[in-house]
Amino acid sequence: AKLNGRRGYSVYDSMIRRDRKRRAVLIEKLRVSLSRDEVGVALQPQSNLRSGRHEGFEALARWKVGGAAVPPLELISVAEEAGLITQLSYRLIDKALAAMAGFRRDGLSPGTIAFNVVAAQLQEPDFIERLCAMVEAHGLSPQDIEIEVTENVILDRAAGNIAAALKQLHKKGMSIALDDFGTGYASLTHLKQFPIDILKIDRSFISGILNEKDDEIIVRTIISLAHNLGFEVIAEGVETIDQYKQLSNFGCDLVQGYLLARPMSEEESRAYLDSVRRP
Ligand code: C2E
Ligand code: CA
Ligand code: CA
Ligand code: CA
Repeated sequence: AKLNGRRGYSVYDSMIRRDRKRRAVLIEKLRVSLSRDEVGVALQPQSNLRSGRHEGFEALARWKVGGAAVPPLELISVAEEAGLITQLSYRLIDKALAAMAGFRRDGLSPGTIAFNVVAAQLQEPDFIERLCAMVEAHGLSPQDIEIEVTENVILDRAAGNIAAALKQLHKKGMSIALDDFGTGYASLTHLKQFPIDILKIDRSFISGILNEKDDEIIVRTIISLAHNLGFEVIAEGVETIDQYKQLSNFGCDLVQGYLLARPMSEEESRAYLDSVRRP
C-alpha cells in the first residue's frame, strides 16, 4: 500500500466505503423482506452410506435481492449485524418444519431436519421453549431435529451459556452436530465439554481425499476419532461417486453434497423423496 502512496489508500478506502454502503442497503432490504416473508429455505438431503437410505435434510437460508441471490454467509452476517438473525431463523425453521410435516402427510419419510444456529440464538432466553413449541405445533418430535453449530459458536465468549443451551436441547432429544469440523480453533476438550452427537467434516477436506495424502489422512483420522468418542460422522461437499466410495471405505456414516442433490426447493425435495423411496 505504501508504494502506491495515496492512490493505493484511496482505492482501499473506496472499497471499504462501497462495502459499508452495500451492507447498509442490505440491512434495509432485509427488514423489508422479513416483513414480507420473502426469505426462503432450501433443503439439502443427507444419506446413510451403509444402507444407502435417505437420512434427513439440512435447512439452508435463501434470499434474493432484485433477482440476484445474496450468498447465505453474507445474509447471515448482515442479519447478525442488524440484530435480525433470531427473527430470520424462526421464519426459516417454521418453513422447514412445515415442509417436513407436509412430506409426512404425503406419505413420504423425510427423516431428520438440521438447522444451523449462531451463538445469539442459543443465548435467547426463550429459544429452546420456542423451538420445541414450533416442533410440536408441526406434529414433529425433538428426535427429528438436529442443531448444527460451528466451532466459532462453541468458542463464543458466552461459551458457558452455549453449553448449557446445547445440553438442554440434547436432553429434549435433539441431536447436536459440530459443523465445518477441522477448520476452526476448537480443541479436543471441547468435544467432551459439549454434548456433541455428530461431527460434520468440512468439505475443504473432502475435495482432496482422492489425490491428496494429507486430506486422506485428516479425513480417516476424524472418522476414527468420531467413532472412538461415540459420535456419528457426516462428510459434506461430496461431489463425485469416487469420493463417495472412498468415504464408504473409510467407514464414514453419512454423506451430503451435490452428488446426492443440491439444496432444493420444497417441491424439488418432495420429488427427490419420491424418487429415493423404496417399495
Ligand atoms: P454450511 O452450514 O457448511 O452449509 C453447507 C454449504 O455447502 C451450503 O452452502 C451448501 O449449498 C454447500 N454445499 C453443499 N453441497 C456441496 C457440494 O457438494 N459442493 C460444494 N462446493 N458446496 C456444497 P450455502 O447454502 O451457500 O450456505 C453457506 C453457509 O451459510 C452455510 O454453510 C452456513 O454456514 C450458512 N448458512 C446457511 N443458511 C443458514 C442459516 O439458516 N443459519 C445460519 N446460522 N447459517 C446459515
Ligand atoms: Ca441422523
Ligand atoms: Ca451446516
Ligand atoms: Ca458445513
